[in-house]
Amino acid sequence: MERNCLFCKIVAGEIPASIVASNELAIAFNDISPVAPTHLLVIPKAHYENVSALTKEDGPSLVALLELAEEVAAGADFRLVFNSGAGVGQSVFHAHGHVLAGRDFAWPPG
Ligand code: 5GP
Ligand code: ZN
Repeated sequence: MERNCLFCKIVAGEIPASIVASNELAIAFNDISPVAPTHLLVIPKAHYENVSALTKEDGPSLVALLELAEEVAAGADFRLVFNSGAGVGQSVFHAHGHVLAGRDFAWPPG
């Protein structure tokens, strides 16, 4: 656990979140500021700064996160977005994927 990490605090239960699913290595919860009818965050329970570090350092947690995304999408079409780095909009530096569904999405993304 990283002392000043918001998502580590959610994993530890120190900050409340609307957790919708979990497995051994990852949890899924509703984004506090949704941009689509379905907007969940899937995160590893362990702290990694971004999806690049997660990929390099903890393959099992990455797979668990993807399995959870698949589970919470529940068969609907969905978009899975990882902002990796401040330059592309990452604002919380604990790896997370955004599971987005329930409306049309533009491509390419803005
Ligand atoms: P990023 O911009 O890093 O890709 O995404 C961070 C996401 O975390 C944003 O969509 C933001 O709304 C969400 N978020 C920030 N603080 C909280 C919080 O305290 N609780 C929840 N559930 N989501 C949060
Ligand atoms: Zn963290």
